[in-house]
Amino acid sequence: MAKRERQPKPYPHRCPECGDVAVFPETIDYTSTFKYEGRQHHFVAPSVTLNKCRTCGATILTNRALGQVAEAFRVYANLLTAREMRDELHHLGLTQKEFAGQIGVAPETVTRWLKHVQIQARALDKFVRIFFKSPEIREELRRMQHDGNTPADPAPGRQGTSVDSSQAKEPDSRARQLTAGH
Ligand SMILES: [Zn+2]
Repeated sequence: MAKRERQPKPYPHRCPECGDVAVFPETIDYTSTFKYEGRQHHFVAPSVTLNKCRTCGATILTNRALGQVAEAFRVYANLLTAREMRDELHHLGLTQKEFAGQIGVAPETVTRWLKHVQIQARALDKFVRIFFKSPEIREELRRMQHDGNTPADPAPGRQGTSVDSSQAKEPDSRARQLTAGH
């Protein structure tokens, strides 16, 4: 069976603008407008490798180029880059899924951050930085996760189901009185 792996099309490509077969990869400083949290940002993404038509000058952003632009925007906006997040997760020995579970976002969200499809919100960026920096915060979040996000309850289940059910006949009344008395 032939593997359906997509081979990159050999250059030059046909230009979607003028139709000439004159599109080649080119690495340039790419001026971009990026909308982030309701504001437009104009910035230059350095050394972006995109496709450019030598006839009409049209530029075509490949997925790789979009990733480079997104990464450059994070540097420009002082946000954690995908590379930094990957490195931190590797350093902490955390999978993307574990990380997502501990900070309370969907695993798909982390995937989108790391694949450059989505830029993390500023508030989450700050939170993730603290998460990476502080073992205490990570420990606390792990505990919250294990307790089903009810860290305020010191001993879930202790005053609940087990005592009141058939398991403990004798201490039942005492337990009831104790808890009822307060
Ligand atoms: Zn063209």
